[in-house]
Amino acid sequence: MPCFDHLTFENHYSQLPDCFYSKVTPQALENPRLVSVNARVADLLDLDPDDQAGIQAVTAGQHVPADADPLAMVYAGHQFGVYVPRLGDGRTLLLGEVRNHQGKKWDLHLKGSGHTPYSRQGDGRAVLRSSIREYLCSEAMYGLGIPTTRALCLVDSDTPVQREKMERGAAILRVAQSHVRFGSFEYFYYRNKHAELKQLADFVIAEHFPAFVNEADCYERFYHEVVKRTAEMIAQWQAVGFCHGVMNTDNMSILGLTLDYGPFGFMEAFDAGHICNHSDFQGRYAFNQQPDIGYWNCACLGQALSPLFNNNVNVIKGVLAQYPDAFAKTYSLLIRQKAGLAVSQKNDSRLFDKLFTLMQKSKTDYTLFFRRLCDYEPDGDNALLRDLFVDRDAFDRWCKDYGVRLSAESGSVSERRRAMQQVNPKYVLRNYMAQIAIDQTEAGDYGEVDNLLALLSDPYAEWPEQEAYAGLPPDWGASLEVSCSS
Ligand code: AMP
Ligand code: MG
Ligand code: MG
Repeated sequence: MPCFDHLTFENHYSQLPDCFYSKVTPQALENPRLVSVNARVADLLDLDPDDQAGIQAVTAGQHVPADADPLAMVYAGHQFGVYVPRLGDGRTLLLGEVRNHQGKKWDLHLKGSGHTPYSRQGDGRAVLRSSIREYLCSEAMYGLGIPTTRALCLVDSDTPVQREKMERGAAILRVAQSHVRFGSFEYFYYRNKHAELKQLADFVIAEHFPAFVNEADCYERFYHEVVKRTAEMIAQWQAVGFCHGVMNTDNMSILGLTLDYGPFGFMEAFDAGHICNHSDFQGRYAFNQQPDIGYWNCACLGQALSPLFNNNVNVIKGVLAQYPDAFAKTYSLLIRQKAGLAVSQKNDSRLFDKLFTLMQKSKTDYTLFFRRLCDYEPDGDNALLRDLFVDRDAFDRWCKDYGVRLSAESGSVSERRRAMQQVNPKYVLRNYMAQIAIDQTEAGDYGEVDNLLALLSDPYAEWPEQEAYAGLPPDWGASLEVSCSS
């Protein structure tokens, strides 16, 4: 039986009226070649990861499973603050929804699958380099414990794709419980299609928030849950130093998943105002802007949902007012855990402010610092940590304060180290690591993608053979530029 044909497809989204999408068929890639299958994602879908030919054929758009009902979803969105009334899946499509043997439902979403009615001037394709970055980073985020879409498979091809230069087309098969975005609601709201807006909300609530169905304040609860999840997700980004790069409302998942990996970056040399997206000239999506942008995006969602609250602004204000607390609560917990502080004390934020000021001055590597902090010795010279700072005296003063603060904690040094190593990753997807995988894959050697996939799926572990990836980036890799071109 052809791959995927044994799966149980339940295409609920395609049962919505046709103003929610356009039916499309994937356009096959030329001469596709399998780069990687993620066995853990295959497992979620009850697929045999060894059926490589079958998985490749579906990802490359050559085989459409018998019960699939492929469609491109329509949505709108605020892009860099400007409302764009019609976007939609321009190079992706929802192949179908499958239910696994555990009863969990997953969207199968192709990315790089060709033209749709929403392609605008685009070619409907995704290039190999950006597909590798999304494939690896979504699994890296999952490994870090951050809500995210994932990907089953990455395929390379001979389909030519024009960007700044000619590149090769590729595709990934993305998997998530939903691909509905904030922008999906904005689309109907700004078109004054309030019956459809309600239909979309009812659909999402029934599928993903069943506990709210039949509650009198069901829409408010739904909005509240989305706002809370968004705040908590962004707190997790900040704690791990993840910069998304394009936090437009069409890239904000209604389930609070990290969605649409483009010019993202993990913080290396610490800079609170770091802009990872070379096309973001104003720094709208700079690292330290992300929490506020998350709030702004939640306000956009509130506006779009307002007809469901009888236009009662106080409902929206009341829900939004909980965002800063939800963010702060999660962020302060995570940052304390990173520093090995199990209890909260009132001067903790001062200690962290001082630390980040020092890190900013020294351009201290974010991941390396926190991993080395796990080995902090109260009476040691902590030379490896100290080496990460230019102003050693200032760092010594901070270290002393930190030691005093730690004495208020009860656990042993080894217990604390173990706990800290479980929240401070040794490995993140640094741009240069992705670049090595890209260069090798473009040259026809596919091994590095699988190598990094394995490493990043367990980023807190020790991987003795991968020690080089736990250090500072090489000089050539510290200043790589990534842009919206993908
Ligand atoms: P993004 O910046 O990736 O969130 O994409 C914004 C919009 O542009 C979405 O509607 C995408 O589907 C669309 N888009 C991006 N790249 C392409 C492309 N190469 N072809 C067609 N549509 C695209
Ligand atoms: Mg997008
Ligand atoms: Mg994108």
